[in-house]
Amino acid sequence: MADKWVYRFGDGTADGNAEMKELLGGKGANLAEMCALGLPVPPGFTNTPEDCTGFTKNDRTYPGSLEKEVAAAMAEIEAGVGARFGDVTNPLLVSVRSGGRASMPGMMDTVLNLGLNDETVQGLAKNSGDERFAYDSYRRFIQMYSAVVMGVEHHHFEDILDNYKLSLGVTLDTELGADDWKNIVANFKERYQQEQEQHLPFPQDPQEQLWYAIGAVFGSWMNQRAITYRRLHDIPADWGTAVNVQAMVFGNMGDDCATGVAFTRDPATGANEFYGEYLVNAQGEDVVAGIRTPQHITRAARDANGSDLPSMEEIMPGVFQELNDVRVQLETHYRDMQDIEFTVQKQKLWMLQTRNGKRTAKAALKIACEMVDEGLITKQDAVARIEAESLDQLLHPTLDPDAERNVISRGLAASPGAASGKVVFSANEAEAAANDGEAVIMVRMETSPEDIHGMHAARGILTSRGGSTSHAAVVARGMGRPCVVGAGEVRIDYQAQTMTARNVTVAAGEIITIDGAKGEIILGEVPTVQPELSGDFGVLMGWADDIRTLGVRANAETPNDARTAVEFGAEGIGLSRTEHMFFDADRIVSVREMILARDEDGRRAALAKLLPMQRDDFTELFRIMAGLPVTIRLLDPPLHEFLPHTEADMAEIAQAAGIDAAELHARALELEEVNPMLGHRGCRLAISYPEIPEIQARAIFEAAATVSKETGKSVEPEVMIPLIATKQEFDLLKAIVDRVAGEVSAETGVALKYLTGTMIELPRACLRAGEIAETAEFFSFGTNDLTQTTFGMSRDDSAGFLRQYDEQSILEKDPFVSIDIDGVGELVEIGATRGRATRPDLKIGICGEHGGDPASIEFCHRVGMDYVSCSPYRVPIARLAAAQAALKK
Ligand code: PEP
Ligand code: MG
Repeated sequence: MADKWVYRFGDGTADGNAEMKELLGGKGANLAEMCALGLPVPPGFTNTPEDCTGFTKNDRTYPGSLEKEVAAAMAEIEAGVGARFGDVTNPLLVSVRSGGRASMPGMMDTVLNLGLNDETVQGLAKNSGDERFAYDSYRRFIQMYSAVVMGVEHHHFEDILDNYKLSLGVTLDTELGADDWKNIVANFKERYQQEQEQHLPFPQDPQEQLWYAIGAVFGSWMNQRAITYRRLHDIPADWGTAVNVQAMVFGNMGDDCATGVAFTRDPATGANEFYGEYLVNAQGEDVVAGIRTPQHITRAARDANGSDLPSMEEIMPGVFQELNDVRVQLETHYRDMQDIEFTVQKQKLWMLQTRNGKRTAKAALKIACEMVDEGLITKQDAVARIEAESLDQLLHPTLDPDAERNVISRGLAASPGAASGKVVFSANEAEAAANDGEAVIMVRMETSPEDIHGMHAARGILTSRGGSTSHAAVVARGMGRPCVVGAGEVRIDYQAQTMTARNVTVAAGEIITIDGAKGEIILGEVPTVQPELSGDFGVLMGWADDIRTLGVRANAETPNDARTAVEFGAEGIGLSRTEHMFFDADRIVSVREMILARDEDGRRAALAKLLPMQRDDFTELFRIMAGLPVTIRLLDPPLHEFLPHTEADMAEIAQAAGIDAAELHARALELEEVNPMLGHRGCRLAISYPEIPEIQARAIFEAAATVSKETGKSVEPEVMIPLIATKQEFDLLKAIVDRVAGEVSAETGVALKYLTGTMIELPRACLRAGEIAETAEFFSFGTNDLTQTTFGMSRDDSAGFLRQYDEQSILEKDPFVSIDIDGVGELVEIGATRGRATRPDLKIGICGEHGGDPASIEFCHRVGMDYVSCSPYRVPIARLAAAQAALKK
């Protein structure tokens, strides 16, 4: 247990610093750091997240000395500001905000203007000389405190305000005067008492307000949207959130006041341009709420967007200059793009937050490359800071520029990528439809943090309100979901389940497309094209390649996949699943014919049809891979995937094989298995029917001989035998491969070089790896089957119950996606160590889905594998993750 709960900051000094995120949360640590840097930060203090975990575990009570420490820290704020908390004539007001270790934008709660009551509001009015401001602050406080702390929801207060404005015939809050706000405050308090559970009046004691607010912010760690966000971002539940209590500064004291949020560079494109929004005479929540249209910070951004509202640079040039200096100072200090919040009170700038800004993958690459050029960071820093998984955003299709687009409206381009889908109007509908396999676009008036599960489920998000720095737009960007926000002319009618723009009405269930890079909303579906990768991508990948020691190959069997793999930088094929070469309708008949053949003659007849197809496929692969290693796996068809299911399929095969349909039917029934994943597949099939590996080996070697002759360079295939449990199985099949290689060599006059190795995908193979390596020349860990057999969880059936495992945090991650390092990983380590003990130069790779997962790649690097092999689209992710793994050593 800690003996210090409260860390103060203010007046150019601080107890903490930016390195102390674990203890102070991101916001608290950075407030302390900014203070120490000499930036203008209102004084305050941070309660550590340990209070939070203690608070949630100990039935919502605080540790012993907290109360005393808070009182002392409050006294320091009072001294710094020259006002007293609860004082009727000169009241101090504070904000109470959450701030976890990892940023969770908008997921937890905040209370502003705390300390106001019926008396202190008068003191505030007198001191500021602005009654209107004082009562505006009070009504804001009542609403926020009620919603966040007391569970009286926002809409009660919003209704009152809307009706009040309606009765006066005004539309903007700024049109209301002091007396209006007084009336509204009275109405708010009355509604509070009606709605509050025990019908108590609005709390007037500032101390009570403070402690209840601290408790509510700690408690918000456990609210549903925070829990969902943590699950999606792998943030541990036991971290807890810190609470920051800070003197209020006011952006709502008149037209020489403002509040805003900004990024030190453009978070969508990465351009080195100050990018942000602000509102004159407003408080922080107004900017993100999206009710008023935010104004641009710079003149250039205003011009580029054709806005008729003045920029901050134009109307507050002095403060803008100061803010721009802070921008440069923060970037130089943090050596990364920052996301900042600020308030201007009577022409004085106050910094309220800085943190590393979320950005698109494209922006991340540009910023990293430019910061290397600017001498701010090293190439290693650049490689280390790009989230490998985020490259996925770049590698997926965008809208075909030549395709026709029926653009019905536009909004702000909040997160790039294009998506088409059926329109839904709520997060729950989005989730339900996505669970049914439907592509949906979630359309909302504004994206709120409550919508997080829907945002995750939807292909894209469209809102009619909100700025491009609204919290939810930031979340969409972080998730890599295409997103268009603030499409002001789109009218959404939740009741009627329609959206209307420029006289076009789209009903729920109809298809639209959004282009998150351009902000376009398009009727119907639009074809897409492969992305063009920017120069920054190539530069960063080059640096990653220089750093990494782990090879990266691709799992590919079709010429198309192989070409994509090479384009993305694959250094070979690590797995070519030969059974996947037969999925085409005209080929599957011959495979089925072979599987269903009653005897060797029947099988050989079918194989004779397959041989030329296989040979042509392999020839093409060897040509495309031009001397790079190609691992070809002998047939491994789980029978249930290949047996015919319909009468028509049966009839077709019977005809091709020239046998009776009834007989074929009987044979299919004979072959049906109870557990096909553990059945007659992999090397077991080859052992039963040795003519299969024989013909496949012939196809491989004939192709190798052909391409060798063509190019004058030797093609060295790696022949891989699947699902080996014993050395005897392997040796038996290797003998066939060797024999056929000798025959083809003699027939073609080409001296064939090749390796024969095995998949290690059964626990027994890991344990007996030492003896298997006596004859096997390489190992490739098939972690799909190894996970299945280690957990005893069917690959085909696990999705049904792993969801509950996830919800109950039984497993940290789906073990079929990210390798279970403790269990499956230990078996892999045993296999690799024992194999290398026998054969020190044993080539070792991985070809399960885990080969494209960054956490698993780090593990593979640690175990000393030679390469990972993954799907072609994940090759760049694997290259980057491999470099990051090397940097971690
Ligand atoms: C594996 O089991 O990890 C593997 C790559 O093989 P398959 O997925 O084809 O069973
Ligand atoms: Mg397998």
